[in-house]
Amino acid sequence: MVWPWRTHTRRRAWFKALVAVAIIAGPFTLPRQTYAFCRTTTDPIPENFPVLTQCYTGGLPLFWRNACVGYSINRSVTSNMTLDTATTIIDKAFATWSNTTCPASGDKVGITADDLGPVDCDEVNFNPNGPNQNVIIFRDSWPYNDPYNTLGLTTVTFNVNTGEIVDADMELNATGAKLTTTDSVPSTGYDLQSIVTHEAGHFFGLAHSTNPDATMYPAYTPGTSSLRELTSDDIAGICSIYPDVTERTVDTSVIASGILAAGPCDPTPKHGFTSSCDAASPSESSKGCSVGATSSNSQSSGFALGLVLASVAAAIRRRMGQTRGSAPTTNQNAYS
Ligand SMILES: [Zn+2]
Repeated sequence: MVWPWRTHTRRRAWFKALVAVAIIAGPFTLPRQTYAFCRTTTDPIPENFPVLTQCYTGGLPLFWRNACVGYSINRSVTSNMTLDTATTIIDKAFATWSNTTCPASGDKVGITADDLGPVDCDEVNFNPNGPNQNVIIFRDSWPYNDPYNTLGLTTVTFNVNTGEIVDADMELNATGAKLTTTDSVPSTGYDLQSIVTHEAGHFFGLAHSTNPDATMYPAYTPGTSSLRELTSDDIAGICSIYPDVTERTVDTSVIASGILAAGPCDPTPKHGFTSSCDAASPSESSKGCSVGATSSNSQSSGFALGLVLASVAAAIRRRMGQTRGSAPTTNQNAYS
C-alpha cells in the first residue's frame, strides 16, 4: 500500500488540531474517538481496508489473560550482535510497555512481560499439545516478501472463541546488518529498540494506530529512535486492554460485562516452557489439529483451523526511499 507523504503530513496536522480543540472546549465536546489506537482482532483485516485511517473492528479483540507473560530470545541472535546486547535492548523495549502508568487509575498497566532467558528454538510456531516459548528471532535472510522494507513481523496465536492470546513470536529482519544498537542511530541505521518496541505492541495485542506520531503507526524512518518512547495514544491502547492486573477488556460475547478477570502473574508459556522447537510446525497444525484446549478457560476448540487462520501477523516497514531495488513505486512512502 502506498501513501503520498503530502497526505500523511496533512493528516498529522489535522490530528494535532483536534487535540487542541478538545482541550479548549472541554470534555462535553470531546469526540467519541479521541485516540487512534487499534486492537488486533480474531478476524484478518480485509484486503484494501484503509488501516492508515480506520481501525478494523470485525471479530473479537485479542488479549493476554495472565498478568505476566514470558518471552525468550533465540540465542543465535545475529552475526554482528551479542546475545547480551540484544537482550539488554529487547528487555528495554518490553519494559517500556510494562512500566506504563495508566492515566485513568494512576497505576501501572496490568501486564508485565518477563524475559525467560535465551532458547534454542528459531521457529514461529505454537504447540497446542505441549510446551512452548514466545520466541524472538533475528532473521539474517528474510524469508518473506519485501525483505528491503519489512523490519519486523509478529505472529500471534489466539483462541478464536475468546480472543485470548496463547502464543506470540517475533521475527526481526537482520538482512544487510543495518540494525543498530547504539543510542545515537546512524542516519541509515535501523534502531533495534524502536523496532522491538513497535513489535512488542503487536505482541501485547495492539494493531497499527492511525496516529502518525504513535509508536504503533506502521512506519519507521531510518536514523531515528523516536519509536522507543510511547505516545499518549500507545498508552491509551495498552491501558484499554489491560487497565489493571485484575481485569482484561474483552468482547461482550465473551462475558456480558466486557471485563474478564485476569489470570495470575505466571509468565510460563501455554502448556509449559521449552527451549527447543519440539512443537508442531504451523503447516502440521493447519492440517486439522483441533485441540488447543486450555483447561483454565474451558475452551475445547478454537485452534481448529490451525495457525493459518488463527493467527495474525503484523509488520512494520521502513519508509520507502526514492528508488530502491524492485520497489514498485518511487517518490512515495510505503506502509504495511
Ligand atoms: Zn506493525
